[in-house]
Amino acid sequence: MVTLKIEGLEEKELPKQLEIDTKKDGSVPFWYKHEEFIYDKDGTLELDFDNTYLHKETEPFDFKNPQMDPVNLAASLVKFMRSKMGYGLAANQVGIPLSVFVLEGEPAYAVFNPKVTYLSEDDQILLEEGCLSYPGLSLKLKRPRYVRARFQDPYGDFVTRRFQDITARVFQHEYDHLLGVDYTMKVSKLKRDMAFKKWRKKYGRTGLSLPL
Ligand SMILES: [Zn+2]
Repeated sequence: MVTLKIEGLEEKELPKQLEIDTKKDGSVPFWYKHEEFIYDKDGTLELDFDNTYLHKETEPFDFKNPQMDPVNLAASLVKFMRSKMGYGLAANQVGIPLSVFVLEGEPAYAVFNPKVTYLSEDDQILLEEGCLSYPGLSLKLKRPRYVRARFQDPYGDFVTRRFQDITARVFQHEYDHLLGVDYTMKVSKLKRDMAFKKWRKKYGRTGLSLPL
């Protein structure tokens, strides 16, 4: 049993569902079975390499009439992200078309319905990025060093926060996911074609669908 610390949950009593059993292979049993949302047939969260929702804008999470239990969703995403050694994970990467992502940290952040309110356009950094949806594909790109955003925590309470450096980088990458944009779309066609060529050479045919 693992207890997850999630931003915004500390002051409140931790619901029992936050303790998640992990299967032997490290996969997390999916707590909510809904045919439309579930990607993996045996009921575990799995990366959706069919990219069903990866290039579509996600739906807002509705706290008044929740599509899923938000606390469990946040906990499942954090657990899954950690099982894949990721720094961030957007719900639409695992076949859930909702405006939710998680960020690694102590504690991890669960970000619902984010709106970016400030980007340091005049202070950008060049960094290599990877993505769980494109295992092994790294791309160097420039993004603002600071980001400020307003979002909701897993209880629907509004949070305004400023992130910087690596966390700001991951925040922007995940935020793009929710808009249906991935990092391969943020570089020139030439740079993208070269990166994919190198990637295919290195990893061979992966069975992944490429947005080319
Ligand atoms: Zn990604």
